[in-house]
Amino acid sequence: MSVTYLPLQAWNQHWTLDGTLVRCRYCGVSQDLTDAGAFQHAFGCKARTLEAQHPSRELAALLQQKIQLGLF
Ligand SMILES: [Zn+2]
Repeated sequence: MSVTYLPLQAWNQHWTLDGTLVRCRYCGVSQDLTDAGAFQHAFGCKARTLEAQHPSRELAALLQQKIQLGLF
């Protein structure tokens, strides 16, 4: 059943949690989990995309999925 954990693993390849901060693994920039704004990478970061990124929101959605699946 490792498939169930893939989305969280994928998230974790780009982001890491540091206390209440979510941090980009590539440029090291962090943003508070409660910051609703789009994530701002360092200039030239390869994880930067054209679309706005909301890693906190993504993490919350992943955890919510797990709750709905009865995994938590
Ligand atoms: Zn970055």
